[in-house]
Amino acid sequence: MIIPDGAADHPLHELGGRTPLRAAETPNMDKASRNGLLGLVSTVPSRMEPGSDVAIMNLLGYDPLNYYTGRAPLEAADMDIILEEGEWALRCNLTTVKKNRLEDFSAGHISTKEAKKLLKALNEQLGADHNIEFRTGTGYRHLLLCGTHPHWDFSTNPPHQVTGRPLPDIFPTGEGAKDLIEIMKESRTVLENHKVNKKRVKRGLSPANMIWLWGQGHAPSFEPFIDKFGVKGAVISAVNLVRGIGKLVGWDIINVPNITGYLDTDYEAKGTYAIKNFNSYDIVTVHIEAPDEASHEGDWKAKTDAIEKIDAQIVGPIMEYREQHEDFRLLIVPDHLTSTKSRHHERGKVPAAIWGAGIKAASGLAFSEAKAQDTDIVWDNGHELMPSFLK
Ligand SMILES: [Zn+2]
Repeated sequence: MIIPDGAADHPLHELGGRTPLRAAETPNMDKASRNGLLGLVSTVPSRMEPGSDVAIMNLLGYDPLNYYTGRAPLEAADMDIILEEGEWALRCNLTTVKKNRLEDFSAGHISTKEAKKLLKALNEQLGADHNIEFRTGTGYRHLLLCGTHPHWDFSTNPPHQVTGRPLPDIFPTGEGAKDLIEIMKESRTVLENHKVNKKRVKRGLSPANMIWLWGQGHAPSFEPFIDKFGVKGAVISAVNLVRGIGKLVGWDIINVPNITGYLDTDYEAKGTYAIKNFNSYDIVTVHIEAPDEASHEGDWKAKTDAIEKIDAQIVGPIMEYREQHEDFRLLIVPDHLTSTKSRHHERGKVPAAIWGAGIKAASGLAFSEAKAQDTDIVWDNGHELMPSFLK
């Protein structure tokens, strides 16, 4: 199963009214789609936020309406953090704030090495006072553990969805929000003058001058994938969230060197490691974050480029593998739609192609959003795709 994160999109006028997926040269995805089954899948239930957390859980066959408790607990699982009952975990982004607006949800894609130093300072200066603990993830993506607060009932904004807006309009709201806002504001004092940021500013990079808290939740509980579907799985991803969902459903994590969760990832290595592991698992999932990141940057060129690399360096070699192995099936499906124009995740169904053993359908259609709309195959509930794929 190959998940090009956020690869689905709306037509762009820069691409002559085509989407990046349609415009990109993707001979392998197109072959899978033409000689296989092409359909549309709804990966985000209407009352949930469009994001990889909900969408990927759904694609793995778990109805987010039953299993989703928040994003941070999924990432905590990848960091082997066991949450106590009722304990809150929150996602903590390192962000750049400028003139009281959220300027960059990734603080210029700050490195893990720099982030570690900043989180250390945050733990030292805010940890004891607020009874909280910051945990380092990767890049700009981190966690905050807050203990149990039975009265807390609040909502937060994903920072990548509110970039550019004034802080007072986008801070958390509801019971307990006051405590979170206080922590976020105090983080600014700690971070603004930190030497890591002084150095970044000198180098012309965005400073990580405030944390952003979101994605809150308690520990979820998943039925193991092997019990639910009878097959053994593993996942390749550089993103904590995706690895965390994998761990929670009982999949193994296949570690691949030099993968980054960004545009500079080692695409070829992902394909090679997937193939190397086909003998050890019934299902191997390869997740690639790059198209989503390019969309958030509004960079249609980088997005089509990432999609082409996925096609040539991951999908191609995996399809070649099938030439020697009859009993093999491939599913290609983006988790959600990320608009390069709005730079945000958006609602909408995404195309899914299934190719290989036992798939008699031959759609004759290239792999794109519009072509998938031309078929009458629709999975209205994303979690129904996995059982169809495995059947
Ligand atoms: Zn995204």
